[in-house]
Amino acid sequence: MSKVIVVGGGAAGLVAAWRAASLGHAVLLLEANGRLGVKLRISGGGKCNITHDGPPKTLLAAFAKDQARFLRPSLHAFDNSAVLELLRREGVETYTRDNGRVFPLDRPGSAGLVVAAFEELARRAGVELRTGARVTALRGRAPRLDGLLLDQERLTAEAYILATGGASYPETGTRGEVLGWLRALGVPAQPWFPTLAPIPLQRPQPAWEGVSLRGGELRLSAGPGRRRLAAFAGDVVFTKSGISGPAALELSQGTERARRESVAWLTYASLLDPPESLDLALQAEQRTNPRLLAATWLQRYLPERLVEPLLREAGLDRTMMLKNLPKAGRRALVDLATDLPLGEPQTVPLARGEVAAGGVDLGAVDPHTMALRGWENLRVCGELLDIDGPVGGYNLQAAFSTGFAAGSL
Ligand SMILES: Cc1cc2nc3c(=O)[nH]c(=O)nc-3n(C[C@H](O)[C@H](O)[C@H](O)COP(=O)(O)OP(=O)(O)OC[C@H]3O[C@@H](n4cnc5c(N)ncnc54)[C@H](O)[C@@H]3O)c2cc1C
Repeated sequence: MSKVIVVGGGAAGLVAAWRAASLGHAVLLLEANGRLGVKLRISGGGKCNITHDGPPKTLLAAFAKDQARFLRPSLHAFDNSAVLELLRREGVETYTRDNGRVFPLDRPGSAGLVVAAFEELARRAGVELRTGARVTALRGRAPRLDGLLLDQERLTAEAYILATGGASYPETGTRGEVLGWLRALGVPAQPWFPTLAPIPLQRPQPAWEGVSLRGGELRLSAGPGRRRLAAFAGDVVFTKSGISGPAALELSQGTERARRESVAWLTYASLLDPPESLDLALQAEQRTNPRLLAATWLQRYLPERLVEPLLREAGLDRTMMLKNLPKAGRRALVDLATDLPLGEPQTVPLARGEVAAGGVDLGAVDPHTMALRGWENLRVCGELLDIDGPVGGYNLQAAFSTGFAAGSL
């Protein structure tokens, strides 16, 4: 039995601490916040999308190739069914939505029940839990860490597991500073980068706040009418400062990368009719239904609140009938209906991402044990690793699986 210090009481740290204690180690868990699992508690809008349904192969397919290769051993050792079985034994029943996302049964504060279950597991296994304990420095150099500082207090152990998470939502305790310390110790790491974040726009539409665009795809290109860089099918919701919703979150990392390289341009494309056939349909409608308002026609494709301002911007009067629509106006209507310009994005904020991309290079870590290569007593797990999955329970599963591997000392 050896003494192990786990830093970070989130998804990965709780599992790592419980696992190490279950294997007979004397475990001290240090958490900066006054309570454990603060980010877990706000996950899934407070409902906590614990994991995703399906065999490990399907889960791995959701991650980038290098990340999937890295996650394979730890996910197989502690997969989604193992997580759910553990929670079930602690009284947390779950259900799977049609889209494969797994949640605790709908009850107020259900995310809190998940935290309580992991906390109870850790306590029962004998983990010493210390909250309000922010580690302020690491001491030592490869191949051994000699200790940690909590301000003036120095703590030592035979092994250390760092599970301090990413750098988004800093108010939940994750400020990302541990990555800087690791780099100073020579550990290779990628800088934090925003992902799964809302996208602010250069020309936001606060009047459209809350309006959704549905059934199409958000497209990212290198400027108006320029090369398409990426697209994601799904809804977009207007916010005061830009756009959010599933498609915006998934495209936020690519948008920020494109924006930093040159120009990024966003549009929302309807997938129903290609522009050519919609144009023909509109011409036919001009003949058969000449008194129909252009505004009424456009409302078939776009939310009502958007129609009048968009017509105005296109130089069309809201009382204009189809019979009076000039050719350029017809083109403008078809363009708006099929590929609505949202314009240039502003800087995507790291702080507002559900996950922070970047972190410890996966090549520097043994994927079976989470041990840092070149170090004898130091392991890293969870979002501190350079892993970022899509929305859907994948990120928590990655934290649970890598935490389990790190705690298997
Ligand atoms: C709003 C939001 C919703 C989300 N919803 C989901 C979801 O539904 N499903 C999903 O799969 N993922 C979701 N995620 C992502 C998921 O929550 C994270 O990927 C996951 O919590 C990462 O686990 P972790 O243990 O690595 O880090 P965290 O859970 O962030 O835990 C790290 C802990 O380390 C502590 N810490 C940091 N530095 C120190 C220090 N120096 N000393 C001591 N302690 C320290 C922090 O206080 C924190 O408690 C969401 C994220 C956000 C922000």
